[in-house]
Amino acid sequence: MNTIPVFDGHNDTLLNLHLPDRGEGRSFFERSDLGHIDLIRAREGGFGGGFFACYTPNPEDDGWNEESALTVIENGYEVSGAPPLDPEYAQDFTEGLVKDLYLLEKESDGALRIVRTADELEKCLREDVIAAILHFEGAENLGSDPGALESYYEAGLRSLGIVWSRPNAYAEGVPFKFPSSPDTGSGLTDAGRELVRECNRLGILVDLSHINEKGFWEVAEISNAPLVATHSNAHALCPASRNLTDRQLDAIRDSDGMVGVNFAVGFLREDGGESEDTPLKTILRHVDYLVERVGIGRVGFGSDFDGAKVPEGIGDVSGLPDLLAALHAAGYDDASLRKLAYENWVRVLQSTWRG
Ligand SMILES: [Zn+2]
Repeated sequence: MNTIPVFDGHNDTLLNLHLPDRGEGRSFFERSDLGHIDLIRAREGGFGGGFFACYTPNPEDDGWNEESALTVIENGYEVSGAPPLDPEYAQDFTEGLVKDLYLLEKESDGALRIVRTADELEKCLREDVIAAILHFEGAENLGSDPGALESYYEAGLRSLGIVWSRPNAYAEGVPFKFPSSPDTGSGLTDAGRELVRECNRLGILVDLSHINEKGFWEVAEISNAPLVATHSNAHALCPASRNLTDRQLDAIRDSDGMVGVNFAVGFLREDGGESEDTPLKTILRHVDYLVERVGIGRVGFGSDFDGAKVPEGIGDVSGLPDLLAALHAAGYDDASLRKLAYENWVRVLQSTWRG
């Protein structure tokens, strides 16, 4: 087993455990073949923790889901835009997931801790405790009032994706499309601009992974924090709407921010395809490209475990040592591996969070 813990920019484990049709009733505390992360496999993989996303799916009665909205087009795909969520529905749903995370912490008996400061995060990494960052993927649950953010901050929120891939009161997310530029719609609303300032004031990380390009540039202009995309890849290697153009990467570099490499095969592969039969070296190509473009100090991982199909060479969280071994074999020394695995996340969070 490797001795380098991997702290990770994105997982959908809370949703996977929450929805019976996804997690099929598995427990976080027992080894399962379902999903990607449970405590046993996390320990096998040297998982140091990560951003635990609270994501609200569209409700069944609005008739939209990722499968039925998908159209295969020549050499690609297009997912018709997800309709906006009802804020009250999003609030209820999110609160359920927040409760789930608190319950995991309690039932873990010290094995998992929700972290609110960089010191707490580093302590967890030293003590082999899984560090969980409470992250909202989409701000629908705030309604249209950025002022609601403060109470969530008090409850432990330390990272916010303004949007998932749908519009809300603050901005527009990119619909999933391949090939496609991320420039798919309009930018921030007035409330969106206020939300970014409020995140800066409180010390909440603003995650740019699902926002469209106009929104990205507006956040870049307003925000005084490093620019971060927790789970996105290089558009030059995989031209999906969800990936980052070279210009966006340059802005992330200039702000001393970072990118978490997404293991979702659809955002890795040149052809945008969804097959798990995708070699591990496809991830390495993105790591190499991003390191070249933004620097070894500004790249990490953002697996999308429990939210996407990942290459079978990783399989699930227990496969992380195989990824580190492949990177080592490709020439990354231990100092570089530590940066990719967790040090860069610690640095960015240190400079973004207030405490
Ligand atoms: Zn996502």
